[in-house]
Amino acid sequence: MNLVATLWRLQSLDQEIDDKTKRARQVDDALAGDPVVAIARAAFDEEQKRLAALRAALHDRELEAKGLASKIKELNDRLYSGRVSNPKELDGLDKDLQMHKRQLGALDDKLLELMDAVDQAEARINDKTNALEQVEGKRASDLDRLAREREALAARLAQLRADRAQTRAALDQETLRTYDKLRETKAGRAAAQLRRDACGACGVSVPTGLANRVHTGDEMVLCPSCGRILAA
Ligand SMILES: [Zn+2]
Repeated sequence: MNLVATLWRLQSLDQEIDDKTKRARQVDDALAGDPVVAIARAAFDEEQKRLAALRAALHDRELEAKGLASKIKELNDRLYSGRVSNPKELDGLDKDLQMHKRQLGALDDKLLELMDAVDQAEARINDKTNALEQVEGKRASDLDRLAREREALAARLAQLRADRAQTRAALDQETLRTYDKLRETKAGRAAAQLRRDACGACGVSVPTGLANRVHTGDEMVLCPSCGRILAA
């Protein structure tokens, strides 16, 4: 392999290493967590909290209703026991009884509302459970696929790095310095292939004499316009 071909091979290896490293990072991120699952899980948790609050409210109101019912029974018993004969007192007892009955009536309406809300929350929990199971199922198969991809990427990167080391070993220090500097300053693209005697990176035509030297391949020729190493 002549100098120009070796440099182009190095550029191709570095480019693939960059691409595969970037992809490996994306795969690592995807393996670490899935926002879709997190959102479905949060929605499920939220709904469960709402249901628990509704059940607690229902329980409190049921206790309240029980208390009112026993108070009504007590007033009723006293009112009709025959032990109270004072009309003023009887009137007071009756008023008290009617007030408690009204309170219980209002509470019964509230209880029905709450029971309905609990039913609806349970139905929503059902939906959220199904949604969560669905995304978790997909996540499980995604994890499988991602783990396999990660393994393949690691193997390929190891091979690429070995090839890169071998390719660099075939180049002299001065050439490598120029190449590395260009990789840094030209956004990772140190070399460009000639296309119809124009630079493949910046598109500017290269004089025939220069193009011929690139095709011969024994020396490093830089694009007169963008400064990249020209490859055939
Ligand atoms: Zn150029």
